Amino acid sequence: MSRYRLHPSPAQEAALMEHCGQARYVWNLAVEQHAHWRPGRTPAPGFTEQCRQLTEARAASPWLAAGSIIVQQQALKDFRQAMANFFGTTHRRPRWRRRGRGEGFRIVAVKPGDVRRLSRKVGQVRIPKVGWVRFRWSRPVEEAKSFRVTRDAAGRWHVAFAIIPEPIPAPGTGAVVGVDRGVVVSAALSTGEPLTVPTLSPGQKKRLVRLQRALARARSGSKRRAKVKTAIARLKAREGDRRKNWVEQTSTDLARRFDVIGIEDLKISAMVRSAKGSITAPGRNVRQKAGLNRGILASGWGRLAARLEHKAPGRVWKIDPRYTSQTCNACKHVARESRESQALFSCVACGHRDHADVNAAKNLRDTAAGYAVAARGGSPLGGPANREPQRDLLLVG
Ligand SMILES: [Zn+2]
Repeated sequence: MSRYRLHPSPAQEAALMEHCGQARYVWNLAVEQHAHWRPGRTPAPGFTEQCRQLTEARAASPWLAAGSIIVQQQALKDFRQAMANFFGTTHRRPRWRRRGRGEGFRIVAVKPGDVRRLSRKVGQVRIPKVGWVRFRWSRPVEEAKSFRVTRDAAGRWHVAFAIIPEPIPAPGTGAVVGVDRGVVVSAALSTGEPLTVPTLSPGQKKRLVRLQRALARARSGSKRRAKVKTAIARLKAREGDRRKNWVEQTSTDLARRFDVIGIEDLKISAMVRSAKGSITAPGRNVRQKAGLNRGILASGWGRLAARLEHKAPGRVWKIDPRYTSQTCNACKHVARESRESQALFSCVACGHRDHADVNAAKNLRDTAAGYAVAARGGSPLGGPANREPQRDLLLVG
């Protein structure tokens, strides 16, 4: 991802903090409105209604009115995306934001003239109500439609430009692949290849445990504590960067190798599936799944799906995942009992055995292939009917 170190002047930093404070304020209002919502109750206010309420709030509050409407509206949009991710089971429920933690805001409708280079290592980005802020030109900067400004726990500022990657040409071989969000591995391809999201190295993991112990011992408010916290934040940032690189490489590789890509439709999975391989009452086994999938939740599955759609537009099919893990790819018999364990699929009807995630990926592949054929038969220009519009919100964060 294209993240750059931002170097605001003290005055600019104060203005950036105002943006952060207002984004946090608006976000927290949205969290409160949705806090009591449960399935089956009347819906909490949606985005449009929230925007109307924001207009009212700005009329009543000089503090909000003095701030940037873009920042405040985007906070609502971020919240909407966070709720979608929550329903998509890729993320936890959006939580209350505390001062100094995960601070940031987003600017949209960025024009090419809003980013410029001053010298070899210095660039500037125009931020509404703040002005031109310098950043370190550590890598080439591609044209972006939006960017996010964040302040990490160590007090460092960054700007991340959301770039929609160029589509990658299809290989034209007719190759189709299914990608299943795995339990045993991060994801499995229908080709049998496992995809494993990189995490910290064993040495780094040890170091993290040591730091966390040190943090528990450090007196609150002490210099030592602040130092340990910064070190932990750095390690976690490194892990995040590694994961982002993995998503970029994996999505490019898949878009290059396959004409058609089948993935789970996360929105559908939200409503019906509790734990993987179970379609019992929604909500059951959610805890267990959270434990099982913590690593995968963190692994940026949503990001991978979004990137695939950018790099292979019109070639990605989102598939109802309800039965993919229980259907035998050989004989199509559907039985929960066939899912012998987390790792193994063993068909109760025909005896076909496969890696459970690979079996599911093959089902996704076959369904995607069917959709692609139907679309070609329907209209020569027809792309996937269930394709999502591009959502730049998924790109950074
Ligand atoms: Zn079978």
